[in-house]
Amino acid sequence: STALANDKVWHMHEAAEQDLLEQQVSLMGELANAIENHQLEVQYQPKLDLKTNRITSVEALVRWHHPTRGYLSPDSFIPLAEKSDHIADMTLFVLQRTLRDLSQWHAAGTEVKAAVNISARLLTSQVFFEAVRAALAESETSASHLIFEVTESATMADPSAALRALEGYRQMGITISLDDYGTGQSTLTYLKTLPIGELKIDRSFVENAHEDSSDALLVRSTVHLAHALGLQVVAEGIETKECLDFLREVGCDLAQGYHVSRPLPAPDLLALCQRYTGVASPPERSAA
Ligand code: C2E
Ligand code: MG
Ligand code: MG
Ligand code: MG
Repeated sequence: STALANDKVWHMHEAAEQDLLEQQVSLMGELANAIENHQLEVQYQPKLDLKTNRITSVEALVRWHHPTRGYLSPDSFIPLAEKSDHIADMTLFVLQRTLRDLSQWHAAGTEVKAAVNISARLLTSQVFFEAVRAALAESETSASHLIFEVTESATMADPSAALRALEGYRQMGITISLDDYGTGQSTLTYLKTLPIGELKIDRSFVENAHEDSSDALLVRSTVHLAHALGLQVVAEGIETKECLDFLREVGCDLAQGYHVSRPLPAPDLLALCQRYTGVASPPERSAA
């Protein structure tokens, strides 16, 4: 009977896997139309400059408002998009929207920069490279206001191709930021060869750093290392005041996380930037 039960469990398992697969296939098909049907939204999460207490840059994060499944987080569809060419269209959409929003914020008097996440698969695409150049040429926004976030693992997939691509984007005037730092396997020697301007310490190291001595050591030494290499350091996933205070104390340059602000629609972001006027303490959070 155990064998029978196991067999039944196995079939249920197979059915569930089949369901999941079918769901993913249909989601992938729908993603193709999501842009045209205005179902994708770009929200922006601020990075707070800990020295000046101003919002100096933001990260663009895509959201999918699916007609029947409701809100879908990027983690549920980016991996699918990455398996197809949809990732190129989607990223181009995010880039164009970000450039448009940047030009509106600049017209409103803020000097903010914006970061777009670039998947491993796109990083080394020549077609995408040309599309970025064209998008910048059409935009009023200069490349100096644009940051590309790439993960450590994206650069490790094909290190020499990645290096060439990053060098090309840097020459275009785009700043490169190394995302989720600490989760990959890259050596210091390798890091030194990359044309990056910013290092983002992964949330998993930051969240407990104010109370865990080994995480604290890791964050502290990463800040020192990054500064020695001439890089700006961003800590992501700041959820508490204790965590923010710790990062200030260790000399981290920028902080990003729910304690500063959740990702916001473009108009709300502008209002937030205008409230951070460089005073010593952040504005009332209830006003957010
Ligand atoms: P990421 O680039 O590391 O982005 C940071 C993620 O952490 C975002 O999740 C953000 O909302 C979340 N986050 C920020 N502050 C906090 C905090 O204090 N606590 C916690 N628990 N989370 C925080 P999101 O928006 O769900 O995006 C997840 C991932 O999806 C991103 O990780 C990025 O890898 C990918 N992604 C998002 N938008 C795009 C895009 O336009 N293109 C590509 N290729 N990937 C994207
Ligand atoms: Mg990112
Ligand atoms: Mg990250
Ligand atoms: Mg991440």
